[in-house]
Amino acid sequence: MTAQLIDGKQISQHIIEQVKLRVEARRGRGKPAPGLAVIRVGEDSASRIYVRNKLKACARCGVNSFSHEVPDSISQPDLLALIDRLNRDPAVDGILVQLPLPGHINSDAVTDGIDPSKDVDGFHPYNIGRLMLGLAGLRPCTPRGVMTLLQRSGIAIDGKDAVILGRSNIVGRPMALELLHAGATITVCHSRTRELPKKVASADLVVAALGKPRFVQGSWVKSGAVVIDVGINRLDDGSLAGDVDFEAVRQRAAWITPVPGGVGPMTVASLLENTLQAAENRDPDSS
Ligand code: NAP
Repeated sequence: MTAQLIDGKQISQHIIEQVKLRVEARRGRGKPAPGLAVIRVGEDSASRIYVRNKLKACARCGVNSFSHEVPDSISQPDLLALIDRLNRDPAVDGILVQLPLPGHINSDAVTDGIDPSKDVDGFHPYNIGRLMLGLAGLRPCTPRGVMTLLQRSGIAIDGKDAVILGRSNIVGRPMALELLHAGATITVCHSRTRELPKKVASADLVVAALGKPRFVQGSWVKSGAVVIDVGINRLDDGSLAGDVDFEAVRQRAAWITPVPGGVGPMTVASLLENTLQAAENRDPDSS
């Protein structure tokens, strides 16, 4: 079996086009364009690329963007004061603080400082709590993007056995909740998990989010499984690799996402959906 590719690039373009049409329709009803404020702290080169891609995507769908680049040396109170200003700025519907942050800044305090109604990353405890309860809210972008990929590819989740590799607050845990709500039976693996290959072998659906290049081996994967590779790892030669040994796994899986061009673009598309959703929640049509 050779897996069908799940083309995240193409699906993300459809999503961005839909957001663009909805922004135009909203403006046609006399509402302002949604606004996204992006804060980048320091000079991390990966963060620079991620932020640039997010700002470019805003421009493509008519979302206003406000870029705040602050030095590594910024103090936590000063960063929180900037967030507070953005919380109170009516032109800003969404606030994103690009991670990672320098060691002297407590990222939990930063997440807590964002108004939950503008938390378009979906990391605030209020939004994570709503996700936990299965209530509407702003959902973390990467798991939301994975769910959209699965839905758009016509892949059923209900009743599937799903194994998630990684339990981070931004990917693994919210991914587990999304799949649980969609009717999967979930197993969440992490660095303390025993017999991990055996657990992967039991899965109809594998989501790999460990940050270890080509970690998931072809021989571990059940024939006909769906494999979603969230990992983005920069190799020594400058190329990118996912957390899955793509060439080997694609010989066994039924569906697989490539890296690049799989989950990555969907994270950006979900961010734009969340920003529009935040604008609509904050300033709904009166009709
Ligand atoms: P993270 O915070 O470092 O978490 C990694 C998780 O993997 C942890 O739960 C860790 O377990 C687990 N893990 C590490 N080594 C393991 C091993 N040998 N066996 C089993 N579990 C292991 O990473 P993250 O932020 O979730 O990101 C994961 C990957 O996704 C990275 O490559 C990142 O670049 C990528 N990513 C991609 C996107 C996208 O848009 N495509 C978005 C976000 C992240 P413990 O909890 O026990 O330490």
